Amino acid sequence: MIISDLEFGEVVVRKNTLARGVKFSVSTSGRLSMSVPARTPNFLIKRFLNSNRDRIREKLPVNDPATQRTRDYQKKVLMKKAREYLPYRLEYYAKLYGYNYDKCRLTHANTRWGSCSSRKTISLNIGLMKLPEPLRDYVILHELAHLNHMDHSKAFWAEVGTHDPRYKIHDKKLKLFSPGV
Ligand SMILES: [Zn+2]
Repeated sequence: MIISDLEFGEVVVRKNTLARGVKFSVSTSGRLSMSVPARTPNFLIKRFLNSNRDRIREKLPVNDPATQRTRDYQKKVLMKKAREYLPYRLEYYAKLYGYNYDKCRLTHANTRWGSCSSRKTISLNIGLMKLPEPLRDYVILHELAHLNHMDHSKAFWAEVGTHDPRYKIHDKKLKLFSPGV
């Protein structure tokens, strides 16, 4: 079966009686195939595709040098913006709410907006610069709260909530964006 996807074009879907899960592969010509268990309904196939877009993108060969150049350029611009903004925004909130962190690191991983290590290093994704400010601030406040709670316990969320009362909405909205460049 072939389904047509706006981003990936024609996708070859193989229903495989032996398959236990969903697998994606990319042929040398760049065509995407997925193999799914035999009885997978079509709406689920589309859902798998949608929830794996980031992973699939990483597998795709970059055939077009112009596309790669554009992406590199966008990354550079984003990094510059991030450098001039994120460490200062983090420092601002840390001072305002009395947090002590050790270092701020900028990352461009495709999967996480931010993280906080047990050594009190806070990592922030440069993709945050593409987000609306309330969501960006939410991620910063979320990571700062991890300095006191290295989990997602009730106490952790209560602390996030004191600094960002709309954190639930922000957390939900954040899922509509992807940190990848
Ligand atoms: Zn967290």
